[in-house]
Amino acid sequence: MQSGSVSVYGHEDGHDNVHEHDLGRMDAMSRGMRPLGELTAEACTGLKGIMCDLDDTLTSEGRLEARAFDALWRARRAGLRVAVITGRPAGWVDHLARMWPVDGVVGENGAFYFHMRDGKMHQRWVDDEETRRRNREKLAELARTIPVAVPGCAVSADQFCRAADLAIDFCEDVPPLPEEAIDKIVEAFEQAGATAKVSSIHVNGWFGSYDKLSCCKLMARELWDEDLDASANRYVFAGDSPNDEPMFAFFPLATAVANIVELQDRIAHLPTFVTPSRGGEGFAELVDRILEQRGAGA
Ligand SMILES: [Mg+2]
Repeated sequence: MQSGSVSVYGHEDGHDNVHEHDLGRMDAMSRGMRPLGELTAEACTGLKGIMCDLDDTLTSEGRLEARAFDALWRARRAGLRVAVITGRPAGWVDHLARMWPVDGVVGENGAFYFHMRDGKMHQRWVDDEETRRRNREKLAELARTIPVAVPGCAVSADQFCRAADLAIDFCEDVPPLPEEAIDKIVEAFEQAGATAKVSSIHVNGWFGSYDKLSCCKLMARELWDEDLDASANRYVFAGDSPNDEPMFAFFPLATAVANIVELQDRIAHLPTFVTPSRGGEGFAELVDRILEQRGAGA
């Protein structure tokens, strides 16, 4: 939904800042995304929090660089809620929720969120234990059949930390596969009745109707007594991939980092804004912009 009375657009002169060599960004803007410079002070001042994807949004070429990690700390110190919304596994999310400057972390594309309260870990699963056990059995079968059906792909290296989904690697630790192979992986999941979403590195498949957005709404309601349907314009979401699409479609202030151009043809609902730079540098630019506009300094 695109609700809310806060104007999210600034002046068209943001386009003046586009450098001719920045063709990726031009391409992104040609599909209607606006440059970050158009994110207004009014919109930033009304913000309660920042939610962001992890891979290729916070990270750059697979690494979490200092400026991106510091941007999370700066946002939190400025009084904003910070949440990571990722397809990465439960084992990673335990670490993120415990040690990072975050209020909560959604993992495995919405299967759960974890958060710390009074120094203790709290795990909130969308499905009950018995449902998860049955679904794991069905996913184990797909973990055997998909790598045979689509040569070159592999069960992801982080699968052993996963509790509710199956991640098929198409370019993280295997040589990058062509688009048709990614389509075949998605098809194999869907033929088995699973939901499948494409991130920048994996195709994630799971049984269940949840996604990043539905779990994010659950987390906001339970942790912050926040009805996101009524306050979507009080949160920025930053992402880069098709599995972020439900978030892009929902948050009026959703922002992509510049590398979205590589996957944008797989995304029907693009976000409102796009950063000048890729990955973590783009995320840091978003936080810079928000804090500057709020008058907190970057
Ligand atoms: Mg990503």
